[in-house]
Amino acid sequence: MQEQKTPKKPLIFYTILVLIILLVLNMVVVPMLMRAQIREADYSSFLADLKAGKIEQVQQQDDQILYLEKDENGREIIYAAGLMNDPQLVTRLEEAGVTFGAVVQEEMSPFVSFLLTWILPIVIFAVIGQLMMRSLQKRMGGPNAMTFGKSNAKIYVQAQTGKTFADVAGEDEAKEALTEIVDFLHEPSKYQKIGAVLPKGALLVGPPGTGKTLLAKAVAGEADVPFFSISGSEFVEMFVGMGAAKVRDLFKQAQEKAPCIVFIDEIDTIGKRRDNALSSNDEREQTLNQLLTEMDGFDGKKGVVILGATNRPDSLDPALLRPGRFDRRIPVELPDLNGRKAILQVHSREVQMEDQVDFTAIARATSGASGAQLANIINEAALRAVRMGRTQVNQSDLEESVEVVIAGYQRKNAVITPKEKEIVAYHEIGHALVAARQSESAPVHKITIIPRTSGALGYTMQVDETDRVLMTKEELFNRIATLTGGRAAEELIFGTFTSGASNDIEQATKLARSMVTRLGMSASFDMMALETVSNQYLGGDASLTCSAQTAARIDDEVLTIIQKAHEKAISILKENNEVLHKLAHYLLEKETITGEEFMDILNASQQAAVCLEP
Ligand code: ADP
Ligand code: MG
Ligand code: ZN
Repeated sequence: MQEQKTPKKPLIFYTILVLIILLVLNMVVVPMLMRAQIREADYSSFLADLKAGKIEQVQQQDDQILYLEKDENGREIIYAAGLMNDPQLVTRLEEAGVTFGAVVQEEMSPFVSFLLTWILPIVIFAVIGQLMMRSLQKRMGGPNAMTFGKSNAKIYVQAQTGKTFADVAGEDEAKEALTEIVDFLHEPSKYQKIGAVLPKGALLVGPPGTGKTLLAKAVAGEADVPFFSISGSEFVEMFVGMGAAKVRDLFKQAQEKAPCIVFIDEIDTIGKRRDNALSSNDEREQTLNQLLTEMDGFDGKKGVVILGATNRPDSLDPALLRPGRFDRRIPVELPDLNGRKAILQVHSREVQMEDQVDFTAIARATSGASGAQLANIINEAALRAVRMGRTQVNQSDLEESVEVVIAGYQRKNAVITPKEKEIVAYHEIGHALVAARQSESAPVHKITIIPRTSGALGYTMQVDETDRVLMTKEELFNRIATLTGGRAAEELIFGTFTSGASNDIEQATKLARSMVTRLGMSASFDMMALETVSNQYLGGDASLTCSAQTAARIDDEVLTIIQKAHEKAISILKENNEVLHKLAHYLLEKETITGEEFMDILNASQQAAVCLEP
C-alpha cells in the first residue's frame, strides 16, 4: 500500500567513479610503469660501464644516479645506481664524454601537474560534499538544503489499504467508535446541526496482536478521506529538533488535506511520560511538545482526526491524554470466545476448509490468544494440510496447529529414555487426575507426552466451556493444586523429584502471589493492595508497594497457600492410586489421549470401586 521509489544511482556517482579511476591510473599505475623501465644497478657497474663507454647520458638526482645505455638491439635502457660520495664523478664523466645533468625522463607539463595536484582534489571534494548533502537531505526528506525535516508521512487513500471493517472480527465496540468518526468525516453537517464537536483524537490501546494497526487500516479503507499513516519511531531522528520539524510538517500537510485522518502507530515511542530521569531524551521531549502544541493548535471543526495506537498506555504522558487531545480511548482487548470464533472464520475465508470444521472447539481451546495468534493458527493448519498432501484443511490440522502455537512443533526424534517417559506420563496424569477430582476445574481436553520444541516434555490441556470472567478463591486454589499435581505424582510413585516441574512451580507461585498481593484472598491482609502492576498489556511487571516486613509476611502467606495445595494434590492422588497407574500406563502406550478417553477410564474405575463396596 505504500509505494516505494526504486533508488536510482545518480549520474554524479558514475562521474566520481570515473574520476577516481583516472586518478588512480595517474598517480599509481603510470609511475609504476615508468619505474618498470628503470633497472637497478650498483655504482661499480656504473663506473665500469662508464669506462667502457657504453653510457650515453647521466643524470644525478638527490639520492640516485640515472644513466642511459643502449643494449645490443639498440634499445634504450635506464639504469639507476645508488649515489656515492665520489668527488671525481664530474671529471670521470667529462673524460667519458657523456652528456650529463640532462633529464632522461620526460617531466609532466606544468599545466597537467597543476591540474592533477590542485584542481582534481578540489573537484573530488566538491562532488563528495554534494553527495553527502544529498543523502542527508534524502534522510530528512526535503528537496533542498534549507527545508530540513520534511515529513515522509505516506498518504493512504481508500482503495490502497485493501482493508475494511469486514476484515476485523470481534472488537465491535472499537469498530463502533471508529465508525462514528468516519461518519463524521463523511457528513459533518449532520453532527454540526446538533452542535456536536468532532473528537480531535482517539487512542487505540490493547495488547499486541489484537488488531490495532488493522483497525486503523480498516478506517482508512472505510473513510473517503486522505489517511496519513506514520509510526512513532519515524519521528525519532539523530538530531534534536528533527522530530519536532516532522510533526509540524505532518500537521501542515494534514490541514491542507482536511478533512482527513492522521494515524500515529506505536505512539508511546514519542509520547512517553516526561520526567527528570537521567535517561530523559531531549529529542523525544521536543517531539512530544510539538505534538501537543499541534494537537491544540488546529481547528477541530476543520476535520482532522488523529488516531493513535499503543500497547503501553500507562507510560504515556498525561498531557497527551487529556480531553482536547486524545479525548477518546478505545480499548482493543483480547478477543472473547465469540470474537475468537469470528476471527478464525475471517481468516479462513481464503483457505480451503472442510465443511464440518468446528471453529467453536478451536476457539474454546485458545482462550487468551490474540487475533494475530489466531491468524497464525489458521495458516499453520493450512501448511500442515499441504504437508499431509491434502487439498483441504480439516479439524485435526487446526487442533495440531493450536498446539504448535501454544507449545511449538513436535520433536519426533527427541531422545528420551523409557524411564523418563514413564515419569512424564505419571506427571501429566497427576495434573489431569487432580483437576478431574476437584469441583469447578476446567475439563481435561487432551493429555500428551510427545515432546515439543518449546521444551515441554508433555502437557495436559484443560478447556473451559466458556470464557471465565471471574474466578473464586476456591477455583484459584484448585488451579494451584492442579499445577502441583504433576510433581505430587512423581513423589508418590517414584519417591523422588525431577526438574520437570519448573514451569508448574513458576505458575503456581505467580497465582498464589497474586491471590495474596492483589486479589485480597489471603488470611491476614484482607483487602489491602500490596502490589501494583504496570505495563498490563505487555506481560505486566508487578512491583511491591509495601514495607520489607510485609514483604516477608507475603512470602509466608504464599508458601502456606502452595503447601496446602500441594498436600491436597497428594491426598487426591493417594486416594486414586489405582487409577493413576492405569491411566499412566494407558498414556504411555498411546502417547496422546483425549479428554473422553481419560474420563472413560476414570469413570469405569469409579464404578468398579463402587461395586467392590457391598
Ligand atoms: P496490533 O494490535 O499489535 O497492531 P495488528 O493490527 O498488527 O496488531 O494485528 C496483526 C494481525 O493479526 C493482523 O494483520 C490480522 O491478520 C490479525 N488480527 C488481529 N486482530 C484481528 C481481528 N480482530 N480480526 C481479524 N484479524 C485480526
Ligand atoms: Mg500494531
Ligand atoms: Zn507439569
